[in-house]
Amino acid sequence: MAYVIGDNCIACGTCMSVCPVDAISEGDIYKIDPDTCISCGSCAQVCPNDAITEG
Ligand code: SF4
Repeated sequence: MAYVIGDNCIACGTCMSVCPVDAISEGDIYKIDPDTCISCGSCAQVCPNDAITEG
């Protein structure tokens, strides 16, 4: 699944808009629900600050 790297996240919301399963929630940084994420990689591709990694 995908993880948000807190130090890199600027809470821009770009990832949230592309997630096909609404796995990403807003906050001081964005969070990805591991039970919902299908590891499609869409969020990591669009993040402008390399804040999402897959592992
Ligand atoms: Fe959503 Fe895909 Fe990112 Fe998982 S990898 S949080 S399903 S956009």
